[in-house]
Parts: sequence; structure tokens; C-alpha cells
Amino acid sequence: MNAKVHELLNAQINKEFYSAYLYLDFSNYFEERGLDGFANWYMVQAQEERDHAMLFYQYLQNENQIVTLDAIAKPEKKYSCDMDVLKAGLEHEIYVTSLINDIYAAAYEVKDFRTMQVLDWFVKEQGEEETNANDLITKMELFGSDPKSLYMLNQELAARVYTAPSLVL
Ligand code: MG
Repeated sequence: MNAKVHELLNAQINKEFYSAYLYLDFSNYFEERGLDGFANWYMVQAQEERDHAMLFYQYLQNENQIVTLDAIAKPEKKYSCDMDVLKAGLEHEIYVTSLINDIYAAAYEVKDFRTMQVLDWFVKEQGEEETNANDLITKMELFGSDPKSLYMLNQELAARVYTAPSLVL
């Protein structure tokens, strides 16, 4: 495997674990707020991010590439309101999309078609992540200021269940 592609894929393991850690922090924030549905939504999100990390980990191992695990950064942001958290989530997903695109560009440059094929799933996944984050912000803008509506939105988010990723390596 090309050294640059390897480096970026290995770094992405850490980035995805950080995503899981960040969403766990969001879940913790909403748990403290008493909004258990929001807490559940971000808990499921955290589980998905851990899966993403493990997919990159597994892919490098399948390709007989060395995996190096690095320290996971501390989620530093303090949130002044619920919307702040939701917007930080969207901002983070846009950043992750840029990381996936960077790996794709590196793989494309050296004609690493196998890595590109794995990344195709992540390109689509990032589109969904950004849509989900945007939808949540829209719902919060519409319903967040009314307690009854917020209660119902919280109930809706409580129904989200974890499913394993559709990508099989
Ligand atoms: Mg991810």
C-alpha cells in the first residue's frame, strides 16, 4: 500500500474513535439535561462511529498493513444550549467528510482501486450523516422552543436503534 494512503487510513481509525468519544460526550450532555431521547440518539451515533473505526482497523489488517493506535483527544467544547450541540455535530460531520475525501484523493492518485471501493461506502455514509445532522437542526428550530413539541421530538429520538454497518470487508 502507498505510504500516504496507509498513513491517512491509520489516522482515520483515531478520527473515528474521536467521533465516538465526541458523540458520547453529546449523549452525556443530554442525559444531564434529562432529554433521554436525544441522549439515546447520540449514543447510537457513538456506536456507529466505533464501527467506522473498526472498519478502517480491519481493512488495514486485511491488507497486511501495520495498525498504530494513537491517543484519543478530549472533547473540549462546552455547550451553552442544546442547539449548540446539534450544530457542533453537523460541523464535525462536514469535517469528517473532508477527511474521507482527502483519503479518497490520495488513493485515486496512486490508482489504489481497492481502497477507493471501501471508501465509496464512507462517501455515501457521510452524505447520510450530514443529512441526519441537518434534519435534527431543522426539527430543533421548528419544535425546540415549545416544551410539548420538544417532549415529542425527544420521544422520536428515543426510538432510534443501533444497527451494524452494511459494509462487509
Ligand atoms: Mg464516522
